[in-house]
Amino acid sequence: MNAESAIAGHALAYDVVVVGGGNAALCAAIAARRAGASVIVLEAASKFYRGGNTRHTRNMRCAHDAATATLSGPYTEDEFWDDLLRVTEGETNEQLARMMIRESKDMLDWIAEQGVRFQPSLGGTLSLGRTNSFFLGGGRAMLNALYLTAERLGVDVLYDAEVIALDIRDDRFQAATVQQPDGRIRVRGEALIAASGGFESNIDKLVEGWGEIARNFLIRGTPNNRGTVLDMLLAAGVDSIGDPTQCHAVAIDARAPKYDGGIITRLDCVVFGIVVNNKCERFYDEGEDAWPKRYAIWGRLVATQPDQIAYIIFDAKSANLFMPSLYPPIKAGSIGELAATLGLDPEKLTETVKQFNASVRDGDFNPDILDDCHTENLTPPKSHWARRIDTGPYYAYPVRPGITFTYFGVRVDHEARLTMKAGGPAANMYAAGEIMAGNVLGRGYAAGIGMTIGSVFGRIAGHGAARHAAQ
Ligand SMILES: Cc1cc2nc3c(=O)[nH]c(=O)nc-3n(C[C@H](O)[C@H](O)[C@H](O)COP(=O)(O)OP(=O)(O)OC[C@H]3O[C@@H](n4cnc5c(N)ncnc54)[C@H](O)[C@@H]3O)c2cc1C
Repeated sequence: MNAESAIAGHALAYDVVVVGGGNAALCAAIAARRAGASVIVLEAASKFYRGGNTRHTRNMRCAHDAATATLSGPYTEDEFWDDLLRVTEGETNEQLARMMIRESKDMLDWIAEQGVRFQPSLGGTLSLGRTNSFFLGGGRAMLNALYLTAERLGVDVLYDAEVIALDIRDDRFQAATVQQPDGRIRVRGEALIAASGGFESNIDKLVEGWGEIARNFLIRGTPNNRGTVLDMLLAAGVDSIGDPTQCHAVAIDARAPKYDGGIITRLDCVVFGIVVNNKCERFYDEGEDAWPKRYAIWGRLVATQPDQIAYIIFDAKSANLFMPSLYPPIKAGSIGELAATLGLDPEKLTETVKQFNASVRDGDFNPDILDDCHTENLTPPKSHWARRIDTGPYYAYPVRPGITFTYFGVRVDHEARLTMKAGGPAANMYAAGEIMAGNVLGRGYAAGIGMTIGSVFGRIAGHGAARHAAQ
């Protein structure tokens, strides 16, 4: 029975109710359906915009013992764990994280069995060709494959279906109230899988953690991840995990739209120039480490600057060394003219660049290694790739914090079952993806792990929910 006929017949009762329509939701729905359950996916977005942040993704990080047709070498479980431990600085649940990494090995084949195709990584993608599997056609193609498979298996999908209330009694899910364009419906289920993303698009909720500065943040993905289902679960006694200010945030073009700018507004040219705030002052070592290890700190750095804006300044020597943003850089014949165009103080910016240029010690410039081009007697220093900004035309990109996704969420166990504040697992409620990312990611980020969390916990949740429904 498809969803429309179910509604017409007022028979909206399923074994498994999945809230959300991204990677985590689809992996959960497919796994539950393959395990024999009747499944409905409730997606707040319209069909065209289905799939939340997953639409914007390019790759996922999975452990593997040998090179494959699309991965350039092995990436062992131990190496994955070491990387996770380093980026989170130990803020992770070791048992869950190791379990996720172990399961990720199986994921590459499983995802491919659901119709998703991979390709070798392209240039300009943070040098991830050994560790991360890239989706052929990107996240949207990946999603299309998952939806097609889910539908072929008989999963019902409702679009424009925002869950606005959950009926939970004695730690047990009963039904979801769904707002549709033409009214409300109630969907009963034997089990619930919450896969409704983080709360990054809810600016008021970001303000609760960050203060008023969050109003200047841009949100890189869907406007639909507002954390409403998360709030409903916490209100029903589910335990939380994580810090509300921890998230993945990068520096993105300040001219990007408030929501959904996606990957093409990210700026990877910090290492080639200097970054100043609106007082024309530098505030961090732009050449501290290789860009793949540092790109995810710049959103947070810009967030702490006045008015949450900064400017990457570089010259003609660097103009073609990186993947550009969707928007062209702002260009001028002199640093003073550039400053005036940006609304900055021309004298101050000229002085900052002069000081920087005077501190540069020449070396062998090489963007592929930690080279020896650095500054001396400058605070903050630029430790690598320091070259004088002296060759016109001069360029600038204005940048703001771009929030990718939040980490604060619901606590789960190794079966992806929600954990209740009062102790013990919920009777029939599971979670996967961003909504529970904080169980693995207390802070920091390793590229591609968002999709690993969704796929691995999605599949586990799907199996668990189907098993529960069958009892
Ligand atoms: C620009 C960008 C690039 C990224 N690139 C990568 C990458 O290459 N690799 C990687 O691993 N990660 C990447 N990420 C992070 C990645 O997108 C997420 O970690 C992952 O997609 C999360 O999957 P999810 O299913 O949990 O959430 P989402 O894919 O965001 O799905 C959440 C779904 O829940 C729905 N929803 C929300 N509230 C409700 C409600 N009340 N009722 C019904 N439905 C609701 C939304 O409409 C949405 O469909 C990127 C993120 C962005 C923004």
